Amino acid sequence: KDLAVESKDHQLTVALRIRPLNEAEIEEGATVVAQRVDDQTRCYTANVTGMETNGKSREEKARHEPSQQSSTLATAGGTMVVLMDPFEDTENHLRANRSREKTYMFDVAFGQQAQQEEVYLATTKNLIEGVIAGYNATVFAYGPTGAGKTYTMLGVDSEPGIYVRTLNDLFKAIEAGKEDMDCSVYMSYLEIYNEMIRDLLNPSSGYLDLREDAKGEIRIAGITEFSTSNAREIMALLTKGNKQRTQEPTAANKTSSRSHAILQVTVKQKSRVKNINEEVRMGKLFMVDLAGTERASQTQNRGKRMKEGAHINRSLLALANCINALSERAGRGAQFVNYRDSKLTRLLKDALGGNSRTVMIAHISPASTNFEESRNTLMYADKAKNI
Ligand code: ADP
Ligand code: MG
Repeated sequence: KDLAVESKDHQLTVALRIRPLNEAEIEEGATVVAQRVDDQTRCYTANVTGMETNGKSREEKARHEPSQQSSTLATAGGTMVVLMDPFEDTENHLRANRSREKTYMFDVAFGQQAQQEEVYLATTKNLIEGVIAGYNATVFAYGPTGAGKTYTMLGVDSEPGIYVRTLNDLFKAIEAGKEDMDCSVYMSYLEIYNEMIRDLLNPSSGYLDLREDAKGEIRIAGITEFSTSNAREIMALLTKGNKQRTQEPTAANKTSSRSHAILQVTVKQKSRVKNINEEVRMGKLFMVDLAGTERASQTQNRGKRMKEGAHINRSLLALANCINALSERAGRGAQFVNYRDSKLTRLLKDALGGNSRTVMIAHISPASTNFEESRNTLMYADKAKNI
C-alpha cells in the first residue's frame, strides 16, 4: 500500500512559474527579461506538448504508464531559467566581461504559456498518493504581489488552480480505494496576518489560537472544518474565502495580499477489515498562498505597512530557514530546525519535517520593469534548494 512513497527522506521540489506579460507592462514598454530555457528540457517539453495537443493521449498515457508520467520531471534533471539585467551597462568597460544574464536551475520551470493543468501535474499531483498513505505535504506559492501566486493556487472559474485540481484527484483516489478504507476529508481555509490566525470561512470568529494537543498534534481552536467533494462548491467556498483575505493597497499601487492563506486538508482513514478496525492513518496537506514578498523599501511603506512587512519577512525567513535546515539534513547529518520562529512554521511543523514532502512554486513576472523583484525571488528560491 505504501509503494508510492519509496523514500522515507524528506523531499523538496523547487519550481518556478513565469506568468504572461500583462497589458500594463506592455503599455509601459516593458521587455521580456525572464525566460525558461527550453533546450535544457527538450524531453520534458516534448512530453507536455504531446499531452497538451491530444487530451485522449494524455489519459491513455496515464492509464498505461502512470509511473512514467509522474516521474518525467524528476528525471529531466532540472530546468534552467535565465534572467537578463536590463540595467546592466554594457558600454561600461569595467563591466564588459560581466554577463548581463544570470541562470538559475529549478527542478521544474513553467514559461508564459504554461497551463494550470501542466503546473498542477508537475508539482502537486504526485503528493496525493503520499497523503492518502498517511504522509504530510506542503505546497507553497511564493513571490511578489502580482506575480501569479493566487492564480496558481486558486485560479479562476474557467481555469481553476491547484486547490481544486488536487481535491478532485484526492477524492477520485479515495473513491477508488473505498472498499478497503473508510476515509474522511476535512478542509479548513485560514489566513495568518501579522502573526494572527483568522478563519477565512468564518471571519467573524476573530483571532484563533494555535495549540498543541497532548499527542503533539497542532490544532487551531474553533476553526471551521468543511467536508464536501463537490468541486464547484469547493471553488465557491474558496473564492469567497479569498475575498476575506487581508489586502491593502501599497505605494506600488496594487492590491497586495499581506497575509498567508492556507488551505489545510486532512485525510483520516480507518481500515474496513474487521480485525484491524482500530488502525487510523492520517495525512495532512497544506496548500499555501504566501503573502507578497515585495520589500518595504520598494513600496515606500511606512507605519502599519512597515510592521506588516516585518511580520511577513519574519515568517518567510523562518520558512526559508526551516526549508534550508531540512534540505541540509537530508544531505548531511542532523540540523536543528526551529519551527517556533513564526506562526506559519509552527502550523506547518508536521508537514515540513520527517517523512513529508515540500513543493515550493516561486512566481515571477517576465517584465523588465519587475527585474529587481524577479531577481530577489530567484535568489530566495535558489537558496531554498537542496545543495
Ligand atoms: P499574486 O497572487 O501573486 O499577487 P495574482 O495571481 O493575483 O498575483 O495575479 C495577478 C494578475 O495576473 C491576476 O489578474 C491574474 O489573473 C493574472 N495572472 C497571473 N498569473 C497568470 C497566468 N499564468 N496566466 C494568466 N493570467 C495570470
Ligand atoms: Mg494573491
